[in-house]
Amino acid sequence: MIAAIGLGSNLGEPEGNVERAIGRLAEIGRVAARSRLYWTEPWGVADQPVFINAVVLLQTSLGARELLGELKRLEGELGRGDTFRWGPREIDLDILTYGDARIDETDLVVPHARLFERAFALGPLAEVDPRFREAYERLPAAERAGVRAASG
Ligand code: AMP
Repeated sequence: MIAAIGLGSNLGEPEGNVERAIGRLAEIGRVAARSRLYWTEPWGVADQPVFINAVVLLQTSLGARELLGELKRLEGELGRGDTFRWGPREIDLDILTYGDARIDETDLVVPHARLFERAFALGPLAEVDPRFREAYERLPAAERAGVRAASG
């Protein structure tokens, strides 16, 4: 199965945190594609450092729930401290899509519940998966302006 994993960080050394996390994803699958790194404006809680975001297409034999468990383990090992909703974080790993699966459980919603509202997730996802380009282009220009490629 190919899963799109969204990565985000705005604490410590965000580029290093995201690159390290991408390296660790190789433990749980094969990195089939990766986006550039993007600088993105914080969402929800504005008074915090800008984020680095990226998206990886991961080919994995793990089921969606096992994958979520592994991502939580990696978040813990990569030093994610306690934070609050939409607050600053060392590393955030989300399942954006899992093949074409639709999952609606209390602790796992795929495609990610807010994927289609979030330029910081859709922008890098559209780079690696052209099927999402239209959805990204439909977002308000002001939101897309807050998503800038930082590398590549
Ligand atoms: P967050 O603090 O944003 O990383 O949210 C983490 C929680 O969201 C996890 O404990 C998951 O159970 C839940 N969750 C629901 N859907 C997803 C998803 N598609 N990817 C990652 N976490 C999810």
